[in-house]
Amino acid sequence: MSYLDQFFGLSGKVAVITGGGGVLAYEIGSGLSQAGVKIVFLDINEEAAQAAATRINEKGGDAIGLKTNVLDLDALKVTRDEVLAKYGKVDILLNAAGGNMPGATISPEQTVFDLNISDLDKVTSLNFNGTVLPSMVFGEVMAKQQSGNIINFSSMAAMQSITRVLGYSTAKAAVSNFTAWMAMEMAMKFGGTVRVNAIAPGFFIGNQNRALLTNPDGSYTDRGNKVINKTPMGRFGEARELVGAIMFLASDSAASFVTGIVLPIDGGFSTFSGV
Ligand code: NAD
Repeated sequence: MSYLDQFFGLSGKVAVITGGGGVLAYEIGSGLSQAGVKIVFLDINEEAAQAAATRINEKGGDAIGLKTNVLDLDALKVTRDEVLAKYGKVDILLNAAGGNMPGATISPEQTVFDLNISDLDKVTSLNFNGTVLPSMVFGEVMAKQQSGNIINFSSMAAMQSITRVLGYSTAKAAVSNFTAWMAMEMAMKFGGTVRVNAIAPGFFIGNQNRALLTNPDGSYTDRGNKVINKTPMGRFGEARELVGAIMFLASDSAASFVTGIVLPIDGGFSTFSGV
């Protein structure tokens, strides 16, 4: 075992990743798998979760894909029991399920007064409740084990206003706030054995934003160029660039005294006024 393997101590850990059929979840799962972590991909889209697991297993990893709904407490409990029956523990929870919805954004022709409240509720619920509910179900397992850690997915949208993106931004701000609150709760009530942190990715091309940021020929849209101009590194992130931060936060040795933080991974977006 190399010094780094020993230092991060991730080999043999079990990670549950919600939204496991998504773009970022797969890359993170793939990176963790190479560090010896067993991966459980959970997604409302069962096929996508299983496809991600198959890709990891084909590369020699140990992964499964299960269907669950992060907004359904009963479904999550059934899933928790399945995971415990197979692996006997949960060391890491990544709350990656989330995303935006067209109805919860303000189109260029609209103002805030045209906001669709039903779509606002849906996007708020997916990103916020969809983080809280799995944290309750799998966090309870960790509290009983007296070990484990949770990593939430906030966003740059939580920190600064981004035109059009209302519901998603406020929900991600709530995810950041919940990260701090849950970190305090777990540390104070369970002897500091369960840590809770978050990452705040900047702009990564994914299924949900590809058409907004890039043209069919691969060039950037006007909005894509605006993002690049506000990113000192002058490019979008690559999904694999999240892996190192996740490994650090997930490691109970490397990050043993780190809890309640929201770590930006954004090419400097959050540091730059744009001027
Ligand atoms: P993605 O759309 O590729 O994946 C999201 C997954 O969540 C999908 O597979 C979807 O089926 C699943 N999902 C949706 N509703 C669900 C439910 N109720 N229960 C279970 N699963 C459900 O998204 P991504 O781009 O990989 O993003 C992953 C996370 O990172 C999200 O929380 C997103 O908000 C956040 N994020 C992404 C970016 C980016 O640039 N891509 C930036 C900042 C934050």
